[in-house]
Amino acid sequence: MSQGRAAVYEEPSGPAGVRVRELPRTDPKPGHVAVAIKTASVNHLDLWLAHGAQRIEPPRIIAADGAGVVHASGDPAWKPGDEVVIYPVACCWECRWCLAGENVRCARFGVIGEHTDGTACELVHVDARNVFAKPDGLSWEEAGAFPLTFLTAWRMLNTRARLLPDETVLVVGAGAGVAVAAIAIARHIGARVFATSRSEAKRARAMELGAEATFDSSGFGAAVREVTGDGVDVVFEHVGPATLSESMRSLALGGRIVTCGSTSGVKAEISMPRLFFGHVGLLGSTMGNASEFEAVLKAIDRGLRPVVDRVYPLDDVQAALEHLDAAEQFGKVVLSIS
Ligand SMILES: [Zn+2]
Repeated sequence: MSQGRAAVYEEPSGPAGVRVRELPRTDPKPGHVAVAIKTASVNHLDLWLAHGAQRIEPPRIIAADGAGVVHASGDPAWKPGDEVVIYPVACCWECRWCLAGENVRCARFGVIGEHTDGTACELVHVDARNVFAKPDGLSWEEAGAFPLTFLTAWRMLNTRARLLPDETVLVVGAGAGVAVAAIAIARHIGARVFATSRSEAKRARAMELGAEATFDSSGFGAAVREVTGDGVDVVFEHVGPATLSESMRSLALGGRIVTCGSTSGVKAEISMPRLFFGHVGLLGSTMGNASEFEAVLKAIDRGLRPVVDRVYPLDDVQAALEHLDAAEQFGKVVLSIS
């Protein structure tokens, strides 16, 4: 449930199908909190939704990421005026998996802004358990930028790939929000970071963020092996068929590929001998648990920071989505709501 001015997915025609509408405001029900959103941000998920690829019935308010100020609270944990960020996962909070802290295994697991109305609106209602204190060190733009990508990249590198401080990681497709989050988190862990991108400008930005060397996106496997000696310990993937075989070629013996997405298509071929002779771990991951979100917040208190590419007013949500669709960004595309 969300209200006020909102960016609403109305028809599957891409960014043009997302329009700003005025919706009625209501009070939060018990156990829920109404957050007056200051900043939200868009992800590739919103584009897929807008193109009709997610099979979500419109209308739906878009966006998973949100930061703002508690406006009204139906839960004693929060009071009006509290500055908060939203854990972007939709789940039941009551099943045995949710109670065990494994929100990602909930049968009703989903993403805010896809499976429920999202954060690109003036007033969003969320379960009080989705609300966390905004880190003091972040601007509002940064606070609305980090949740989905940092939660996703955190789980991929820490929980799934178990990246260690003295290991090497290759981040593929370095401009995407989740990849920029991965570079920042891998550096925060203390790992040596390498990155690929088609864009020279994005390769330069990756170096500024702490990458040791960068590579063009085509045929990078041999170059990665040459620079690292015997390949990297972990490859961070979200591109899929266009890069997966080169990603496998980049791995050291016993290395791990961890993936959260497949922007270049849904089916990929892999070399089976490379998989078993290489003792390769092929790991899937999506979003993360509330405890992992808390770990991200603690890392932010220790200096971890998101990268904001550009900020658009809510009225320009179509331009924000088109910017993302053109893959021009480095880091996050933020919406300024109020
Ligand atoms: Zn559950």
